[in-house]
Amino acid sequence: MSLPLIDYGRTGRTLDFPVFDAHAHVGNFTHVISPSLEKQVAEMDHVGVQVQMVSSIESIYGDISRGNDQAAAAAVRYPGRIFAYCQISARYPELIRSEMERCFRNPVFKGVKVYQVGVRYDDPLFTPVWEFARDRGVPVLAHTWGGDVKGFDKVAAAFPEVAFLAGHAGSGFAYQPYVDMAKRHRNFYLDLTYSREHTNMIEYFVEQVGTGQMVWGTDVPTFSISQQVGKVLYARIPDEAKRAILGGTAFKLFKI
Ligand SMILES: [Zn+2]
Repeated sequence: MSLPLIDYGRTGRTLDFPVFDAHAHVGNFTHVISPSLEKQVAEMDHVGVQVQMVSSIESIYGDISRGNDQAAAAAVRYPGRIFAYCQISARYPELIRSEMERCFRNPVFKGVKVYQVGVRYDDPLFTPVWEFARDRGVPVLAHTWGGDVKGFDKVAAAFPEVAFLAGHAGSGFAYQPYVDMAKRHRNFYLDLTYSREHTNMIEYFVEQVGTGQMVWGTDVPTFSISQQVGKVLYARIPDEAKRAILGGTAFKLFKI
């Protein structure tokens, strides 16, 4: 008999329904050494995460192509458990198209990850990214912070076929810009990867936006899976909503 989902948290039982981590990484953050990839996967097994989408931290701070190769290597090592985002950056506009083409020759890449780095998402510099995502039918995980979602109005409307996952939705306690954008654009999704929200943020998102536009992620290995899963298991929302957030919506989006 399956338990009420809150009891998985209370008893420490491994989740035994589809759970999809749409926002994770591989590698080290600057001088902080991450747990090994084996530990990362062992923790997935412990909590009950079936699939993890990773990008490489190396691609944020260092060499984009080398980072994408690291993400691919992790996915190849754990087939069916880890899949990769191809990361591109506005810092290297000349690499955007060629790097996406290069990544997607390998079938472990299932999405694109983008960072703003001072350039708004409606800057034409990013247009090749949205075109590529549309043509390949893959979601884009777009880093956002503190409610800065300016730019999505234009691109979400111009590319209705693309699923835009707004990373760290609610960060900086800025909930409303994410809610408003999600209400205006059905292809704008709230990625809950974040650790400092008020009590009831998830409840508010469910009430205002609905779980069809919410995905869950962990930022592993920088943060902890158990902490990120706990906030959903203990939220004051129906079990059906918890299942959608923890995996149902993402499995549909990524077609995995
Ligand atoms: Zn992240």
